[in-house]
Amino acid sequence: MTFSLHGIGVSGGYAIGRAQLYSHARLEAPHYVLRPEHVDAEVARFAEAVETVRAELLALQTHIPGGAPPELSAFIEVHALILSDSMLSEAPKRRIREQRCNAEWALAQQTEALIAQFESIDDEYLRERRHDVRQVADKVLKALMGHPGNAPLRTADEGDSILVAHDLSPSDMVLFKRHTFAGFITDLGGATSHTAILARSLGLPSVMALHNARTLIQEGDWLIVDGVAGIVLVDPDPAILDEYRLLRNQWQLEQKKLRRLKTSPSVTLDGIAIDLNANIDLPTDVGPALNENVAGIGLFRSEFLFLNRDDLPGEEEQFEAYRGVVEGMGGRPVVIRTLDVGADKSVRWMADTSVNPALGLRAIRLCLAEPQIFLSQIRALYRASHYGPIRILLPMLASLAELDQALTLIGAARGSLRAQEIPFDEHTPIGGMIEVPAAALAAEWFARKLDFLSLGTNDLIQYTLAIDRTDDTVAHLYDPLHPAVLGLIDHTLSIGRKLDKPVSICGEMAGDPRLTRLLLGMGLTSFSMHPAHVLAVKQQVMRSHVGGLAPQARRLLRAGRPERIQELLEKLNA
Ligand code: PEP
Ligand code: MG
Repeated sequence: MTFSLHGIGVSGGYAIGRAQLYSHARLEAPHYVLRPEHVDAEVARFAEAVETVRAELLALQTHIPGGAPPELSAFIEVHALILSDSMLSEAPKRRIREQRCNAEWALAQQTEALIAQFESIDDEYLRERRHDVRQVADKVLKALMGHPGNAPLRTADEGDSILVAHDLSPSDMVLFKRHTFAGFITDLGGATSHTAILARSLGLPSVMALHNARTLIQEGDWLIVDGVAGIVLVDPDPAILDEYRLLRNQWQLEQKKLRRLKTSPSVTLDGIAIDLNANIDLPTDVGPALNENVAGIGLFRSEFLFLNRDDLPGEEEQFEAYRGVVEGMGGRPVVIRTLDVGADKSVRWMADTSVNPALGLRAIRLCLAEPQIFLSQIRALYRASHYGPIRILLPMLASLAELDQALTLIGAARGSLRAQEIPFDEHTPIGGMIEVPAAALAAEWFARKLDFLSLGTNDLIQYTLAIDRTDDTVAHLYDPLHPAVLGLIDHTLSIGRKLDKPVSICGEMAGDPRLTRLLLGMGLTSFSMHPAHVLAVKQQVMRSHVGGLAPQARRLLRAGRPERIQELLEKLNA
């Protein structure tokens, strides 16, 4: 039966494919199809992994250390019982035979099915045992991954799959980089959540905030993901499929045409050079950024080096990563933001107990509370500055006292490098993110102490309008064109001009081509965005006359009603 679901299109384009219901284990587990003659060996490999884990549990049971809590023995016993249950030790073998899939995939599917059964149990104690099931399954998965099969593989065709999830975390999205899904959809999430931001950086058509997609859609259903309109069509009839194939082809053609602008200079019709920079999450994103011929990296979200791991990256590991990026950019400037974890970017080594994490101990607040983490990052950044132009960016500043403390620690890091005679660039510029309304209103005081400012409009909008950017129920209220938001941006830009300090925007607004001409008219000359958006924004830059846009932008800034603002924006873009 055909039906449609409506959400927020967070990444443009159209995807057509079959639904693949998401599970975390599945993302971790490789998936391939076996030749019939290798099925028996794969079943044996699975049985061997189960035996390995059984032996591990037994060894643990017989060597319980003296001071261990008394529950440990009972706990190991429960795990051994779960492992012996045929639902975990036998059912995956059936899946391997029936689907001719690898053992990891069969186990991941079976685990999800089992966990879904546990979730529907009323008794809370029994329901909680699902965590034990997951832990035992993870042990078997690890044993399998440690002993990969040697059957010749045929990679399963993920390219035609659309991932359907209730929710995805930014850490899940980082794992996505290893996969080749055609698109994805989720029940939860807002348009500027970090999950959505990562989706854009992957260039995958996607729709979020669909509320019930995970329960209404079944594995293998045909889906159309319309990332432009924010619609998902389930089980579409052939005529609609044809129509969307046409739309998809047109979209791909337009993207191809934009490629012609790659080497054109980013200059307006009245000769103003506009810096178009890239936002990146990992050192491996340097390639895609260079591919768009960007002026530099305007925002390297360094916190992605800290996700999906149990430990912290040390100074040496960070230094290598930052040096890799700066050398990879071959002399183009690289703005590296210091650790911005907390809120939706949670890390395993920090138990987040805040009632409201977006207002809690995140970003610079966390770094000031854990100065050793901050110091080792700053030392790594300065060490990398010896290999190319780096700029250090401090996230989420709200008060000048925080800035003073951060600058003191930065001074201490510099002092320790000097004392050790480690070479670094003493003149590395230090900037601050303006993403809290207090910082925007007090921009003058921040600008006086800093070398540059960068407007983080994603958070600025969240905090100005009191809208959780990850909450799908209020996503419709998230409005970059709200007069209060535009007023704060305008104020920050005017302070930059007054004190002759560069101001850029690195939030999602910078990569939205519908807003390019407005921002140019407001005087912005430096944008940072996902590489995937650079050419569409450049196209707008090249057709703009800033002198002509400025009075139109002023008029829009004086307007209050949303309809009037829309009307003026359309005129400005005409
Ligand atoms: C922002 O808040 O606009 C920003 C660029 O930082 P992040 O999206 O990582 O919070
Ligand atoms: Mg931010």
